[in-house]
Amino acid sequence: MVEIPESHPRYESLKTRESLVERVEEGITSKAGLIAHGRGEMFDYLLGERTIDSAKKAEKKAIDVILKAENPVISINGNVAALVPAEIVSLSQRLKAKLEVNLFHRSEERINKIAELLKKDGAKKIYGTGKPDAEIPGLEHERALCSKEGIYSADVVLVPLEDGDRAKALKEMGKTVITIDLNPISRTAKTADISIIDNIVRAVPNMIDLEPLSGKEFDNSENLSQTLDHMCERLKELSKDI
Ligand code: ATP
Ligand code: MG
Repeated sequence: MVEIPESHPRYESLKTRESLVERVEEGITSKAGLIAHGRGEMFDYLLGERTIDSAKKAEKKAIDVILKAENPVISINGNVAALVPAEIVSLSQRLKAKLEVNLFHRSEERINKIAELLKKDGAKKIYGTGKPDAEIPGLEHERALCSKEGIYSADVVLVPLEDGDRAKALKEMGKTVITIDLNPISRTAKTADISIIDNIVRAVPNMIDLEPLSGKEFDNSENLSQTLDHMCERLKELSKDI
């Protein structure tokens, strides 16, 4: 791993990049995952690389909804496994949610490597390994594959860093869809019932500790437009400094 001095102003972000590159070399994350991360980083810049109030509200609401669910499932892809392996296992334990590996670029080998990594971090059972026994309707074969006891029968799914098509297909199955996605205008963010616009490296640790937001109205569109307003304001501020 390349040494990054702690004094570097972009230390955290550079360290994250280096660890992602390592995970690609280990076969956990796909090369395309690196590009997806880059798109995320751009939006994180606009947020100011911190959890803004609207994101914290969505995180609290997500906890409330998952705690009240019958069969909540957290979907894990290569980037999630690379960035927050131990944290996502802790979150699943707190929320009593199942973990299912579900990849955009599906490979049996990568699924098994991710499952092993999560087990090292304390996960007892991982869905999505072995032969898939269910399909999400409306998606072409490979990306539709999932586990019957997991995502297929879930009432609430947390799908961080998800593709828009799959988020839409899950929604069409009648599920409550929660995402963590730095891009407030991605199809996923616009499709989900709760969109947490935050970096997963901050959102998941936050969600391990935050109290649930219950009994309060939550309007996802309103929350998304507050996020976009925040980004616009920040751009205006930044333009004054140029
Ligand atoms: P969509 O398919 O929803 O329209 P997209 O095609 O732009 O989105 P994908 O590559 O399908 O993007 O999904 C990856 C998403 O994950 C992107 O929206 C990106 O902003 C987001 N993302 C990447 N890295 C992170 C991260 N560390 N934390 C949170 N979100 C991230
Ligand atoms: Mg996409």
